[in-house]
Amino acid sequence: MKKTCCDELFSRAKRVIPGGVNSPVRAFNGVGGTPVFVASGKRQKIRTADGRTLTDYCCSWGAMILGHARGEIVSAVKCAAAHGSTFGIATPAEVDFAERLVSLVPGMDMVRAVNSGTEAVMTALRLARGVTGRTRVLKFDGCYHGHSDTVLVKSGSGVLTMGASSSAGVTPGAVADTLVVPYNDLTAVEQAFAAHGDTIAAVIVEPVAGNMGLVPPGEGFLKGLRKITKNFGALLICDEVINGFRFGFSSYSALYAGITPDLITLGKVIGGGLPLAAVGGRAKWMRQLAPTGPVYQAGTLSGNPLAVAAGLKTLDLLAREQPYGRMAELGSALAVGISTIAAEHGLPVTCQSFNGVFTPFCTDAPVQDLADAKACSTALYAQIFHGLLDRGIYIAPSQFECNFISAAHSAADVDAFLDAFEDVCAHLEPWDEA
Ligand SMILES: *Cc1c(COP(=O)(O)O)cnc(C)c1O
Repeated sequence: MKKTCCDELFSRAKRVIPGGVNSPVRAFNGVGGTPVFVASGKRQKIRTADGRTLTDYCCSWGAMILGHARGEIVSAVKCAAAHGSTFGIATPAEVDFAERLVSLVPGMDMVRAVNSGTEAVMTALRLARGVTGRTRVLKFDGCYHGHSDTVLVKSGSGVLTMGASSSAGVTPGAVADTLVVPYNDLTAVEQAFAAHGDTIAAVIVEPVAGNMGLVPPGEGFLKGLRKITKNFGALLICDEVINGFRFGFSSYSALYAGITPDLITLGKVIGGGLPLAAVGGRAKWMRQLAPTGPVYQAGTLSGNPLAVAAGLKTLDLLAREQPYGRMAELGSALAVGISTIAAEHGLPVTCQSFNGVFTPFCTDAPVQDLADAKACSTALYAQIFHGLLDRGIYIAPSQFECNFISAAHSAADVDAFLDAFEDVCAHLEPWDEA
């Protein structure tokens, strides 16, 4: 294959794609430098367009839980493609896929397939508003729920805040419909319900926050949300687009939190690397979707045969191989190693991890919400990122993201990561705290 240079690709890309990328984080604005363009991937490795091989800890934000280009998944997709890519007509595999999710996720009586996590959340929110007749949604600062209007809102100052838009083009009406409180702050949720309870349709939460870096829920936080929403007649939506099937072979809510949400959104892992996501939950809510109910939702490519084939095959392989214990062990070895090495070098790095997902936060203190995360040194993170990249390791190009170990990663990869990290720590330049 012809060798291309990432710099040249980026110049070409910037002329025809805004910022040169199809999703902002890929532009490396958080760390500087020229973004990586991937030519191919196999198992835990990716090959860049200029011919470098990197060990990948992004794994498409966790979607590639079995590693890249897994043979059985490639075959399943090829086979599906050979039988027709899309019909706009129902197919048998969609039924298999829905039955599989319903059998694996407690509280998911019915499920609808969509094309992205963004869509799954949009549908969940519309459904919550449709069935409650209420307008507001409460979300947590630093949790990401895709790029639809009402969830592109960040908190202003103060504990209980009406949000401010975090994007141009979001109407004041959409912002007014969104309440934002700090993650892990049950008191703030109680205050929000005390003030606005009769107008809140739903609380939406990432059970383990994954979009400000990895931030686990505090003791009692998720159970508390379940109780408050129930008391006030609001729906609890667990956005498990990252969490679901990532920490174990079901939802986080069922496996670790011991709660049953009203609605659950899934994405990333369940699509096996193709555009596929889902929203599901209690039948009495799900039946309110069109065509049985008044809440409209649709999609030309929803339940797409190629995507469903990749998703089903991924679930088959996960069921058979159950890689979760191994990924968790590798993840904790990595996290402990990172924190230990950083401490030896007197660096403020706290690596938070859970079951193979980790974030090296450049701060001394544990991170429990977005305010803690914002205290991190992004300048130090940028140096760590580029130091690792120079040594053949690709981590998230932003401090405020998770990194993912796949079933294809090995103990040797963890050792190589820690050796590289040690070397990076030994060669850091002074950094600005700005
Ligand atoms: C990735 C993500 C989304 C959005 O999914 P897309 O497929 O990128 O639209 C929504 N919620 C959470 C928690 C996510 O991590």
